[in-house]
Amino acid sequence: MIVEMRTGSPDEEVEGVVQRAKSLGFGVQLNLGTNKTVIAILGPNTGQLDTDIFAVLPGVESVTRIMKPYKLAAREFKGEDTKVAVNGVEIGGKRIAVMAGPCAIEGEKQLMAAAMVVKEAGACILRGGAYKPRTSPFSFQGLEEEGLVLLRQTKRQFDLPVVTEVVDPHEVSKVTKYADILQIGARNMQNYALLTEIGKTKCPVLLKRGLSATITEWLTAADYLLAGGNENIILCERGIRTFEDSTRFSMDIGSIAVLKRSSHLPVVVDPSHAAGHYSLVPSLAKAAIAAGADGLLIEVHPNPKEALVDGLQSLTPSDFSRLMKELKPIAEAIGRSI
Ligand code: PEP
Ligand code: MN
Repeated sequence: MIVEMRTGSPDEEVEGVVQRAKSLGFGVQLNLGTNKTVIAILGPNTGQLDTDIFAVLPGVESVTRIMKPYKLAAREFKGEDTKVAVNGVEIGGKRIAVMAGPCAIEGEKQLMAAAMVVKEAGACILRGGAYKPRTSPFSFQGLEEEGLVLLRQTKRQFDLPVVTEVVDPHEVSKVTKYADILQIGARNMQNYALLTEIGKTKCPVLLKRGLSATITEWLTAADYLLAGGNENIILCERGIRTFEDSTRFSMDIGSIAVLKRSSHLPVVVDPSHAAGHYSLVPSLAKAAIAAGADGLLIEVHPNPKEALVDGLQSLTPSDFSRLMKELKPIAEAIGRSI
């Protein structure tokens, strides 16, 4: 249930609503907007609550029941777009944020080379996985902490914030020490123990869409993070499983429009995992920007032929730099920059 306070209502009135909700055994989350406060009343039985319980309280403008399963990620709770600040880079603002780099950190030389090319081409965040959730146990699983150390070293040398995946709830505090953005992979979108642990931190999060998750399930997963008090959530569309097998996953371009209408959270698109092939990545990246994505997550490898993971969908340095130039007029056409 969402309680919207009148513009400029004093703190005592807000407190009155909060105390009433708590006395009934409900949880609350506040959205302190620029001119009005919105209070989400949360709990398993809010559906049975009479809205008048709150409507009669001083300062209350309106009380709305949110019928959707997600509450805190919903536009009804927060009308303004969320902007996530990552070490001087803003995600969800006018400038489109491009995060690029190798699928997996393979070694110092590879990571440094990748960082150099992506930075030079205009990316503002370096990606690289140290923990890889692989479909097969026999595939390369990542360099783990050794990879995180290389990531930190590269980040410092190139002054680029970094995004890296965390797969285990017990490793959240360790990975947070190295990462500027914690990536939750598609396979872990519904790992509620992991979401709960990351929700306790303030670290920005890139929450990828599950392989077969609906948008509603995805936003409800985002609520786990928001409910823990972490407001720095970025959604990442990375393609979903459909009957179509000519791309690795079907990039759901419509999800961008739906998310912009239904949620206040910024949306990044990963065309690499959707495409599965380097030759398709530029078209999907351009479509994502035209459709209103706030950023891109792109796999770039200094030498894709030698990549240990996802070489087929990785762009070469020259392809990535060409793509960045081609994205510029598209961003400008919709009033944004890159
Ligand atoms: C990745 O970004 O390298 C990755 C494993 O992505 P996803 O979780 O979307 O498959
Ligand atoms: Mn990958």
